[in-house]
Amino acid sequence: MIEGTFSFLKNLGQQQDAKDAIPTEDLSKMAEFSIDEYRPMKVIVIGAGLTGVAAAIRYRQYVPNVDVNIYEKNDGIGGTWYLNRYPGVACDNPAHCFAYTFEHKGDWSACYSPGHEILQYINHVVDKWNVRSHIKLQHEVVHMQWDEPSGQWVVRIRRPLAHDPATFEEFEDRADVVLNGTGALSRWKWPDIEGLHNFKGPIVHSACWDFGGSTWEEDVKDWGDKNVVVVGLGSSALQIVTALQPKVGKLFQVCRGQTWVSPPFSVAKLSEMLGRELNGPDTTNLYFTEEEKKLLEFQENLFRFRQQIEAQMNTAHKVTLRDSELQKTTRAMFTAHMVKSLEKKPWIVDLITPDFSVGVKRITAAPGYLEALCADNCDFVHENIKCITSSTVEAANGQSIPADVIICATGFDTSYKFPFPIIGRNGMSLDEKWSPYPRTYIAACTDGFPNLFFAFGPNSSVGTTSILGMIEHHVMYSVMATMKLQRERLKSIEVKPEAVSDFDNVMESIFSESVPTWYKVGKADGRIVALWPGSSLHCMRALRYPRWEDFNYERVDKTDNRLFWLGDGMTYSEKTLTGDRTWYINPNYVDVPPTPES
Ligand code: NAP
Repeated sequence: MIEGTFSFLKNLGQQQDAKDAIPTEDLSKMAEFSIDEYRPMKVIVIGAGLTGVAAAIRYRQYVPNVDVNIYEKNDGIGGTWYLNRYPGVACDNPAHCFAYTFEHKGDWSACYSPGHEILQYINHVVDKWNVRSHIKLQHEVVHMQWDEPSGQWVVRIRRPLAHDPATFEEFEDRADVVLNGTGALSRWKWPDIEGLHNFKGPIVHSACWDFGGSTWEEDVKDWGDKNVVVVGLGSSALQIVTALQPKVGKLFQVCRGQTWVSPPFSVAKLSEMLGRELNGPDTTNLYFTEEEKKLLEFQENLFRFRQQIEAQMNTAHKVTLRDSELQKTTRAMFTAHMVKSLEKKPWIVDLITPDFSVGVKRITAAPGYLEALCADNCDFVHENIKCITSSTVEAANGQSIPADVIICATGFDTSYKFPFPIIGRNGMSLDEKWSPYPRTYIAACTDGFPNLFFAFGPNSSVGTTSILGMIEHHVMYSVMATMKLQRERLKSIEVKPEAVSDFDNVMESIFSESVPTWYKVGKADGRIVALWPGSSLHCMRALRYPRWEDFNYERVDKTDNRLFWLGDGMTYSEKTLTGDRTWYINPNYVDVPPTPES
């Protein structure tokens, strides 16, 4: 078996010299098209984040005669990494693993690299694979509806007028296939706190940091005497507290839940791999030297380096399994780490340490966070918020917290209710369909919504590793389905409802405790909807070879013959004596079997 990420597909690859399909009027005659005269395919991808960029690359690589448009509502590329500019925004996985499988990056500044480096990386990939011309910025999808007669999605898009950006126009586009790449964490929302907007000072949400400077450091340079309140205890809040604590007069973190904070395993692993002690301004991150970055310019070194880190990360899944040995030892290890790191303020330990199991909520690698909490200018206020006044945050226990700036790191709308209607077969809306919770088929699609695929939608996240490999596999799943639609002259592909039900039953196997988390749409009880029912490796294996028998199909041509797509018995290059007629011996096509060693 070829083990390259998607190299197994190269032998299935469709020949690139095909022409538009010839319509077949008279079905009593043999088809008048060649097997590889592929019909044109229009694909719309929603969102130009990590999914959209990968999709533009893979669709053009594998689907001949394809037209790909990516509609992005923001005025920049990068999705989460474009929007999130809050203090301390960084990758909470080792950065070398936060790269596409097909483009490693060796010059990250640190183990946990800042968000702007990820954004630069995405833009680098966009330029290297010439994706930019496919992306339409400030184009917001506002409606989409399945059109039964044509077998297409009709997508309505809103954009500013070129000559008058304050005025918007709407137009329609159509696509044979839509890939929704808007992700789970793109719709931020204000917390439900009384008086929130009575506050007279600056108040921002972490996902909408808009103080106007070119960097967050510039924004906060005059905050040395300010009282800054950070609300929340998720990954974003922890990064913000860590970054802001040394820069502000007084920092209050106001929160109500608990969280597991892991020791910086990856930093330890990296220093072991590099055979050196930590350097740089803190001891909880590892900053690469110029010499190390030079070594990692060699692709072979870089690949082996990434492989070792990723291999270690891929041992962590059992942490999320109820009562597993690894879960128990991890709990003990995390507790010891938190107790030790909070030695200066031991009273925080009881407040922050969860009674729920490790993995029930996202595990937070928050380098430097516990140390920041121990600083003299930092107060950990573990209380519900009663209300916000013009200048204070009032806690439920009566404490009045003076505030010059409030930062709400209070999370996202993770209900998977998209901000625009998606209307499928028989007028059913996706919101209706996914009520009370989203149900999918292996996180790729759902019944009633033909030719529509998802990446990083419901059921597609994991708590222990980078999700990029999974995103790429979901993108490839939609690419493979599109290739099938095109090759076999199919109008629609729709997953069978019973296959969705079966996957829903598998989802029941994820263990859950009564804790509010975005894995469960922010609720304490109910179904886990964000997670994949297994590890990231498991997800990628599952997605690699589609079970086509789990789908219903309709044909483009009015024929009962399922093999009509075999066409006129020729390939296009034979019929027209053009193009390559020896592609089957082309090294790009041939799968050379390994010779046995003995
Ligand atoms: P989050 O994990 O949903 O955390 C939101 C926090 O806000 C929770 O502590 C929540 O408390 C609190 N909150 C909400 N409403 C509140 C209210 N009215 N009063 C007080 N507290 C309130 O959101 P997030 O921190 O933005 O992170 C979301 C996800 O984004 C992460 O799990 C991670 O997957 C991703 N992320 C990744 C990175 C990265 O480096 N790659 C960085 C940041 C985030 P309760 O739990 O009590 O409701």
